[in-house]
Amino acid sequence: MGGPLSIAFQGAARTVTGSRHHIRFGERTWLFDCGLYQGHRDEADGINRTFVSPPGSLDTLVISHAHLDHIGNVPTLVSQGYAGRVHCTTPTAELAAFMLADSAHLMQQDAEHLARHGKARAGARPLYGAQHVTETVSRFVTHDYHAPWDLFPDVRVEYFDAGHILGSALTTFTFRNGERTFRLGMSGDLGRGHRPILRDPEHHPAVDAMVLESTYGDRFHASADATTRGLCEAVSRTIARGGRVLIPSFAVGRTQEVVATLHGLIRDGTCPDAPIFVDSPMAREATEVFTRHPECFDAETAEAFRRGGEPFGFRRLRYVATPDESRSLNDLREPCIIVAASGMCEGGRILHHLAHGLGDPKNTVLFVGYQGDGTLGRRLLDHATTVNVLGEPVRVGAEIAALDGFSAHADQGELVAWVTALDPMPKRIFLVHGDLGPAETLAGVLRQRTPAEVFVPEKNQEFALWS
Ligand SMILES: [Zn+2]
Repeated sequence: MGGPLSIAFQGAARTVTGSRHHIRFGERTWLFDCGLYQGHRDEADGINRTFVSPPGSLDTLVISHAHLDHIGNVPTLVSQGYAGRVHCTTPTAELAAFMLADSAHLMQQDAEHLARHGKARAGARPLYGAQHVTETVSRFVTHDYHAPWDLFPDVRVEYFDAGHILGSALTTFTFRNGERTFRLGMSGDLGRGHRPILRDPEHHPAVDAMVLESTYGDRFHASADATTRGLCEAVSRTIARGGRVLIPSFAVGRTQEVVATLHGLIRDGTCPDAPIFVDSPMAREATEVFTRHPECFDAETAEAFRRGGEPFGFRRLRYVATPDESRSLNDLREPCIIVAASGMCEGGRILHHLAHGLGDPKNTVLFVGYQGDGTLGRRLLDHATTVNVLGEPVRVGAEIAALDGFSAHADQGELVAWVTALDPMPKRIFLVHGDLGPAETLAGVLRQRTPAEVFVPEKNQEFALWS
C-alpha cells in the first residue's frame, strides 16, 4: 500500500466547467468530480466522451456536490464501463438523482430536435440515457459531514460543509504511508457567508496541498444587504405600477434562496405582498429535498423550521405543475412574482413568460444569476431593443434589472479570507474552475498574501504531490 501520490487536472483547468481531477496513489486511481463540460455542442461532446484513462480502470469516484458541472458526466463514465462506487453526501445523492434524469431527458430531446431538422451528427447522440442514470444512482454511497470514512485502508476521506448548495462539500483526503501522512484539500465550489438557508462555508483542518476554485477570482460581489435591498426595490416599484416581476432562475439552490429572501421581506412588511409562483417542476423537487435536510440549514432557517415555520414560504408560494397552469398565469390581472427556469433564458418555462410579458413596460425582468455570452439573458442585459423568443421577435418594453449578490460562489475577497484563515496555510495551492484571467488574478493575490506556491494548471497537467 501507499506509494507515489499525484494529481492531474483533466477538467475545469483554466475554465469554469467540466470538473474532473484524477488522483493516483500507488497502484490506485480515482476521479474527484466528473462534471459535464458545457459549451459549444460538438466541442463539448468530444470532451465529455473522452476519458484519459479507461473508465473501467478507475477504482472509485468522489463527488463534491450536485451541480451538473461536477457530477453530470458520471453516467457517461458508467456507460463506458466504470464499475465502482460514487461517494457523495446524502443531499447530493437526492438532488443528483433527478438532476441527472433531467439531463438525460434534455439530451434526448436535443437529439430528437436535431434529427428532425436533419442536423444529426456525432454530437447529436445523447451522452447517456435514463438507464445509465439509474445505474449511476444505484452506485451512490452517501456520507455525512464530519464522518470520516476509509476510501482505502490507507486513504481517509472527510466531508465538511462548503456552503455552496445543499449538500455541497469541502473534501479532505488523508494519505498514509507507514508513519507519514499527507493531507489534500479539495474545495469543490466554495460558497459564501451570510446567505439565506445554508450555513456559511466551514474550514477544514490544515492540509499540505489544496485545490481551490477561482470562478470569481477577479471580482467582488455586492453585499448581502445591498442584494436584499435591490430585490425589495425591484419588486416594490414593479408592483406599484401594477406589473409582474419575472425572475429567470436555476431550479436548484438559487430559486429556494430567492423565494426564502422574498418570503422574509414580505413577512416583515418591508416588501408589498404579492403571490409568488414558482414555475418549475424541478424547483419543486429540489425544495422537497431541502425540507428533508434541516441539518444543513443555518441557525436562523433551522430555528424557523423547528418552530413549525416555513422558511421556504410555502403558504405564500404556489407551484405551477403543468404547462397549462403555466400558460394560465398569462391571464392573471394582479401583480405577481414569477420564478422560472432557465436562469439564462436559454430554455424552460421562463421563455413563454418572456414572450408574453417582455413588451409591457409595467413588468420587470430581474436577473439573479450570471448570464453567459450569447444567451438571451445576456442580450437583454446588454439593452437589446428587440429579441427573438420562441422564434418570434419581441420588442423589449419591460424594465431589465440584475442583482449579482445571490452568487453561490465566493468572490476574490471571500476566497482569500477563507484560505488565509487556514492554520497553517497549505504549502501548495492549485487554482481550478476559473477562466485564465480570474485564476491568474487570484494567483497573484494569493502569492502576495500567503507563503504558498500557487499554480494555475493547464488541462491534463499532472503534479507529483508526495513520494
Ligand atoms: Zn457548483
